[in-house]
Amino acid sequence: MINERPLLAGVCGFPIAQSRSPMLFAHWFDEYGIDGHYVPLRISAEDFASTIPVLIRAGFRGLNVTIPHKQAALAIADQASEAARAIGAANTLIFHEDGAIEADNTDAFGFLVNLREGAPEWVSEAGPAVLLGAGGAARAAAHILLEEGVPELRITNRTREKAEELAHHFGDRVTIIDWEDRSDALANAALIVNSTSLGMVGKPALDLSLDAAPRGAVVTDMVYNPLTTSLLAEAKARSLKTVDGLGMLLHQARPGFRAWFGRDPDITPALRARIAP
Ligand code: NAP
Repeated sequence: MINERPLLAGVCGFPIAQSRSPMLFAHWFDEYGIDGHYVPLRISAEDFASTIPVLIRAGFRGLNVTIPHKQAALAIADQASEAARAIGAANTLIFHEDGAIEADNTDAFGFLVNLREGAPEWVSEAGPAVLLGAGGAARAAAHILLEEGVPELRITNRTREKAEELAHHFGDRVTIIDWEDRSDALANAALIVNSTSLGMVGKPALDLSLDAAPRGAVVTDMVYNPLTTSLLAEAKARSLKTVDGLGMLLHQARPGFRAWFGRDPDITPALRARIAP
């Protein structure tokens, strides 16, 4: 026990029923013999700020937050990591014993570790990265890819204004490609990232031709349900290296677990098998 508070944390979103995080934390509690609890909390946007002090009083050590609370989570924090500030959103809150709230964004970390693990041959300097999407997950990927040193980040998004916001925020290595021209954006790309929700179960597939993708390009999808999206299936058929989105989900949870329960948990094949859709 790292302090006297209950071994208690949770994930807060609206909706929340689809979250795999409780299963993930249950696995780690079993694995490390921790008598902990990780609770899914369905909290609306209007109730978010007033719920946090209640959770702190109830002894929560922290919280993962998901849509629609990621910006509000950053706003209520007393201190924030460099990643959370740069991304403009937080997915992990740490409630310190003195009452201070610390915000972190671990999506960027999860994205990068998953990419490096799945495609160790990828080096950031190899060439432009193409980012499909300009939502919250795209912001995390843009931050870490630029920090890692990609020479150019091509962002393409259905709603062009959101891509322009990202370009404005992240600076002059970002170029914007019209959504209609997304397939052409792949020419000489070293990395192709889907951060849209297209390809997810219940959503249309991502319509993207990989004809222009170079032979050595790495293709990664943040969608993890299904594990092999049509984008990844098409990339595999062309013998491109692919990285699915499940590892990002697993790795992004590690910093919270470490902060709340005192141990950096392992990502094992058994865990992947338990959490995979
Ligand atoms: P978000 O902020 O709601 O962004 C959604 C993105 O998808 C936007 O760029 C949106 O474009 C685009 N999009 C949605 N429907 C579209 C359509 N019909 N045609 C074209 N573009 C469409 O969501 P997010 O948090 O960034 O998450 C995006 C995806 O990443 C989700 O599938 C989520 O599950 C996944 N994700 C995975 C992990 C992980 O750990 N593996 C972590 C975070 C997110 P507009 O701007 O035009 O609406």
